[in-house]
Amino acid sequence: MRAPQVETASGLPAEVTIYEVGPRDGLQNEKTVVPAATKVEFIERLDAAGLATIETTSFVPAAWVPQMGDAEQVLGALGAAGVSRRRPVLVPNARGLDRAEQLGVQAIAIFGSATETFAQKNLNRSMVDQYAMFEPVVTRAQEAGRWVRAYVSMCFGDPWEGPVPIGQVVDVAERLMGLGCDQLSLGDTIGVGTTGHVHRLLEALAARGIAADRVAVHFHDTYGQALANTMAALRDGVTVVDAAAGGLGGCPYAKSATGNLATEDLVWALHGAGVRTGVDLEALVETSAWMAQQLGRPSPSNVVRALTS
Ligand code: MG
Repeated sequence: MRAPQVETASGLPAEVTIYEVGPRDGLQNEKTVVPAATKVEFIERLDAAGLATIETTSFVPAAWVPQMGDAEQVLGALGAAGVSRRRPVLVPNARGLDRAEQLGVQAIAIFGSATETFAQKNLNRSMVDQYAMFEPVVTRAQEAGRWVRAYVSMCFGDPWEGPVPIGQVVDVAERLMGLGCDQLSLGDTIGVGTTGHVHRLLEALAARGIAADRVAVHFHDTYGQALANTMAALRDGVTVVDAAAGGLGGCPYAKSATGNLATEDLVWALHGAGVRTGVDLEALVETSAWMAQQLGRPSPSNVVRALTS
């Protein structure tokens, strides 16, 4: 069987926007450093498979993340199509924004932390100081008409601190969205969240004025909860879902984290439920199988495995 039997589910949106993070979040967290030409081919194949929104790269210093040290090369090769509003890049600070602007990037993403420990480890500053780092970046980007997404990491648990209070996550989200960001992405960086937790967090955000139409969800499959959590969020009105082709990636600073929700697993579930994604599943699976060869290891995605065996 190459596609699921379609039986429409109630309570789900008619259409979901998949925010593909494989080339950035996925490859950034793989041990192998992938050549720029392979990344370019990966992005072009994802685009051809119908993934309209693709996060392409990251403008963090190469010393922090060597896997993304070729950002200029990758975007240079992609040309104008690679810097549109549907091709966000990760930008940590003013220097990163300078680099992105020189290439004409139209959409950026900043990345905050919901916990003190992860702010220290990932941003090298306190939770309070993260806002001072991001504020000038968001202000400048907004003034230039660029689209801005705010990621928040460790929304559902932290490997060092354990449980993360929902109120604490909402406080961070409110501060970051208050800077003027267009979209919030809730990251379950270590994949520990469950469906009730997803519902409570979305409810708490809505109560503070951050409705589901400005929220995206970003789940990892460490505990096998990514797809269940995603479907729960969709039933609460979210329509933007982060996923990585082939389930690439983990998190270099969080040992217990495994891959992102696999785009193929998401597409199978959505298409079966009658939800449109615009994605050609066959072309996507072929792309992930090819990337798995480049990385020298099989894809952790169940759907990729089932469709390629
Ligand atoms: Mg991720």
